[in-house]
Amino acid sequence: NPRTPLASLSDDDLAAFLTQQQAAYAALQGRGLKLDLTRGKPASAQLDLSNDLLHLPTSTTDRAGVDVRNYGGLEGLAELRELFAELLWVEPSQVVAGGNSSLTMMYSTIVDFLLFGGVDSPRPWSREEKVTFVCPVPGYDRHFSMLAEFGIEMVTVDMHDDGPDVAAVEALVKDDPSVKGIWIVPTYANPSGAIVSQEKAARLAAMPTAAPDFTIFWDNAYAFHHLTEDEAKSADILSLAAASGHPNRPIMFASTSKITFAGAGVAVLAASEANVRWWLGHLAMGSIGPDKVNHLRHVEFFRDADGVRAHMRKHREIIAPKFAAVDEALTDGLEGLEVAEWTHPTGGYFVNLDVLDGTASRVVSLAKGAGIALTPAGASFPHGHDPRDRNIRLAPTFPGLDEVRTAMAGVATCVALAAAEKLTQDRASGV
Ligand code: PMP
Repeated sequence: NPRTPLASLSDDDLAAFLTQQQAAYAALQGRGLKLDLTRGKPASAQLDLSNDLLHLPTSTTDRAGVDVRNYGGLEGLAELRELFAELLWVEPSQVVAGGNSSLTMMYSTIVDFLLFGGVDSPRPWSREEKVTFVCPVPGYDRHFSMLAEFGIEMVTVDMHDDGPDVAAVEALVKDDPSVKGIWIVPTYANPSGAIVSQEKAARLAAMPTAAPDFTIFWDNAYAFHHLTEDEAKSADILSLAAASGHPNRPIMFASTSKITFAGAGVAVLAASEANVRWWLGHLAMGSIGPDKVNHLRHVEFFRDADGVRAHMRKHREIIAPKFAAVDEALTDGLEGLEVAEWTHPTGGYFVNLDVLDGTASRVVSLAKGAGIALTPAGASFPHGHDPRDRNIRLAPTFPGLDEVRTAMAGVATCVALAAAEKLTQDRASGV
């Protein structure tokens, strides 16, 4: 399907293309669709993979004979810490198994930094004149809204295929002691699918920072969420940081939200033993222990790390075709027009779609007008502001395969229409 780039069409041909897309859009509206590609939620078929959890655990004691129904064990069930330690390439003593949400663990970590300061902090962050985080973009919207709520400033750096623009990060952290942290989703990033290379991870671990308590929030939410046989291994950030003399710099987060049940899984934190003591010390003032019944339920369900890996392959069978459908629809509708670029993730939950500059908001509102809900344009940027208004995050896991096909063909129409409108306006105004 060799199409001509839209920008190189004559005025007459562009006008004809515009008319054609307007007609396609009117037809799309006429279908009365009601589809939703907004959030990265597992489909119910994925949740069903873990239904055995509903009948577990069969035992009421852990392997040491402790009654899991009772209080205690703030750091989480030893068996589960071991299982995650193997999966995340860390030591069991570096792992805390908590409640059902890693996002909540990130939130309380930042609250502890603000109120008390961390292991290497000269004072609580709330006593600093200003606290700044480096935010690779596009990134995870909830990371940014969390910082906005705390009044933490955000400076952006570009996310590349192999991780953030590390030279830009190094320049930001070197002289400015207000720069206290960075968000990193190292494996199959939300939304770009990028995988942080070992080399970039090593530079982040080793770089000189003006703040002694600069912290890498290493959110490995998609560590095991492969979409192909080429299963990426996450960089070993705790060892890299320890080896370069900054053992407390990274704090790693993960959860089974997209492995078992999004609302009833287990979240974990992994960090240096000093950080783990610090974190548990503050947690102890607010909790007598986690839900160890759920911990044991997960241990019985998976048995071991290989059990998790096998389980993730079943997820892959369900969702990989949906990602293929996204690519197919975008290729069918847009290839050659040079009005959009999109990622081909090998894991994770998202496809990142970059449309013609200045048209992302229009695409999202056109889609809405045709009954297709997309994540708001700009959501993957701090304060929801994409300076180029071109970025759209697509989340194809929740709808059925046919719905993904229909929705994405519609999105392609909206992208082409918005681009034709924009080019037409630009020509009319002599841009
Ligand atoms: N981090 C990232 C990067 C995510 O995409 C998500 C879920 N969409 C989360 C964290 C949330 O994790 P949890 O369910 O463990 O709170």
